[in-house]
Amino acid sequence: MTFDYGSVLLAVGASGAALSFTLFTNWLRQPGSGFLMTWSSSIAIVVLSVIMFAFFNATGSMLLGALACILLTTAIAVHQGGVVQFRDGYLPRKQVAALAAVLALPQAAAFALGFDGLGFLVVNVLSAGLVFYCGAQYWRMRAESPAALGTIALLHFILAVTFVLCAVVGVQENPLYLDNGSPQNWAEVANLVASVIALTGIGGLLVTVHQERISRQHRHNALTDPLTGLKNRRALYELFEGRDVPVKTAIVVLDLDQFKALNDTYGHAVGDAVLKAFAGIVSGFLEADDVAVRLGGEEFVLVLPDRSVAEATALAERVRVAMARTVHEVDGVRVNCTVSAGIAISDKPGRSFDTLMRKADNTLYLSKRNGRNRVTAPDRDAA
Ligand code: GH3
Ligand code: MG
Ligand code: MG
Repeated sequence: MTFDYGSVLLAVGASGAALSFTLFTNWLRQPGSGFLMTWSSSIAIVVLSVIMFAFFNATGSMLLGALACILLTTAIAVHQGGVVQFRDGYLPRKQVAALAAVLALPQAAAFALGFDGLGFLVVNVLSAGLVFYCGAQYWRMRAESPAALGTIALLHFILAVTFVLCAVVGVQENPLYLDNGSPQNWAEVANLVASVIALTGIGGLLVTVHQERISRQHRHNALTDPLTGLKNRRALYELFEGRDVPVKTAIVVLDLDQFKALNDTYGHAVGDAVLKAFAGIVSGFLEADDVAVRLGGEEFVLVLPDRSVAEATALAERVRVAMARTVHEVDGVRVNCTVSAGIAISDKPGRSFDTLMRKADNTLYLSKRNGRNRVTAPDRDAA
């Protein structure tokens, strides 16, 4: 089976147009994901470039040849902007424009001097370098989604190699002047076939990685308390419900004191600010493997692996003291709020999470009953 140049060029244009449209409609549904629009634009420019190539082949016009080549490197420059946007969340517009201009200059010069063969050589070398560079950036990002981003990088590398082949064969055949229209050798056909595969493959895989990101974000949101940024009750129960808690894990239940009165006196907004501040105070005392959860309302739970009763009590005591010393300033109002805590510890294998939570709640109740603003450690035989 052989591929004729015109049909493969048409395939690049048609698949590019379909992909550009698909990415555009994806962007309409998720306008926050600007890189979808950037990719759509980049591929739309490829399609324009393909149309110019077709006209150049039909007419041999230098101007159309120059336009076709410059559009191609512009598309790759925009694609490079999309890589940055995908990674860092913003499109470096000025850099993209500058890159596109720098890439256009030598091509424009070659065509202006009448060296269309040289123009094609330049576009192939520049495209090879830039496509390879984009691939290398995806390769560096592959930890996020190894199979998809690794394949995306590989597709870039293959495409870059075919641009190199075009340059090599171009030098052998038409180093300065073309015969009539684009060179149509085997390397060019290979480059077009690789373009169809790369465009569709990269486009599809990028959409997949993007969808994975969205579902990770949804999951994160479902497990996070929006007010404090701590984990929520659902996250806590997903981690521990129905399981035995590892030995030497402490559970600390914390409940703000007289919080209803604070809300009633100063208003809900002040109460919210105090809740946020408390979450910040707690977080400042935690170690990497500790889990802090807002269970609901003004109740919080800490799960502290590898702690003795004394260590867990000391940590809860530090939180209590820090909270008691803090004066919260909200909208010109100065308020103070204290916290009470109860502790349970998994002292031997087979302690269930539910049992420990109940025991921690019981010790918290003792803190409340004994006057609030205090930490109650478990009795020797309470845990
Ligand atoms: P105690 O010292 O015995 O714990 O008394 P308390 O007033 O803190 O306890 P209670 O359970 O009676 O009141 C808890 C209050 O927490 C009731 C509710 O108004 C408030 N609350 C619950 N969720 C929120 C929230 O998201 N924001 C604010 N501002 N208040 C909340
Ligand atoms: Mg309370
Ligand atoms: Mg409460």
